[in-house]
Amino acid sequence: MLTLLFLIFLYFLPSILGHNKRGAAGIILLNVFLGWTVIGWVIALIWAVTAEPYSPVRVVAVPAGGRFCCQCGAFAHPNAHFCTACGRTV
Ligand SMILES: [Zn+2]
Repeated sequence: MLTLLFLIFLYFLPSILGHNKRGAAGIILLNVFLGWTVIGWVIALIWAVTAEPYSPVRVVAVPAGGRFCCQCGAFAHPNAHFCTACGRTV
């Protein structure tokens, strides 16, 4: 019984490892439908453990009342009427 549980855990290991990745649905589907073909399981496992592409997130502190230009995205001071970067009305 314990061996069966271990084998089930081992079969779904790629799904468990990749459940919070961007392509989680693909990993789980590959694991469930082609996991029995060993090569499908290996591909799902490799897919689950490979690193995701780096996507940087830039955090910008905005003073109260500050806005961003809707044309170029530059920060505009709270009292500005025109964007200093592109000259458009803010
Ligand atoms: Zn602008």
